[in-house]
Amino acid sequence: KLSLRLTAVASYVEQGAILADIGSDHAYLPCYLIRTGKINKAIAGEVVKGPFESAVKNVEKEGLSTNITVRLGNGLQAIQETDEVDTITIAGMGGPLIASILKEGNMKLDQVKRIITQPNIYASAIREWAVQNGWTIIKEQILEEDNKIYEIIVLERGTAEYDELEMMVGPYLLKEKSPVFLKKWKRESVEWSRVLDSLEKAGQTEDISKRKEQLQKKMELVGRF
Ligand code: SAM
Repeated sequence: KLSLRLTAVASYVEQGAILADIGSDHAYLPCYLIRTGKINKAIAGEVVKGPFESAVKNVEKEGLSTNITVRLGNGLQAIQETDEVDTITIAGMGGPLIASILKEGNMKLDQVKRIITQPNIYASAIREWAVQNGWTIIKEQILEEDNKIYEIIVLERGTAEYDELEMMVGPYLLKEKSPVFLKKWKRESVEWSRVLDSLEKAGQTEDISKRKEQLQKKMELVGRF
């Protein structure tokens, strides 16, 4: 059975999409989408040999080798023009890594209409990449599974402006203020004050005061809701 997290990611893939799942590991996500009849063609990309091999094995075991092509490659290099990929999923990594994969693979995005990301931490890096590269957020979701909190950010082409707080916590998630969202930022604030406390004790250098200022700023922003 697919995790709640990946099931949520899958829900944003549109019927009939041609998908590239980057960092696919076991290829659970494309297998699920094909088994459920939502799509019939996918690329599963992996940069590491071990996960690449488990993706190949799993796709074969499920009898989906005609539908899913597993490729070894760094980021969007796994996508070829003739694939006609229109949807990309990148899940289960840090926001900065996802953003760097999108940045480095920019020339592979011409035919892509929707990018579904699921950052484990620092989702703001993806929002920053999006606004700087002509993409806009169309949906966001936050969910908890096994005591971990995950965010999903869905992007399509367009422009939008978000303020500092929206960039940090997500414009849609901020509007919604769900219990999981409040829990996440409560957790973060507790962590920030812990770090602030230890910085207080660490003395006075320019670096420390800068770090303190950044944390105070974040606490102040989150304190607004
Ligand atoms: N997407 C799956 C999920 O959400 O359950 C797997 C997540 S797993 C924690 C992250 C995977 O991304 C690893 O298998 C890793 O090898 C792969 N990965 C990391 N950097 C990558 C890159 N630049 N290109 C392709 N895959 C990458």
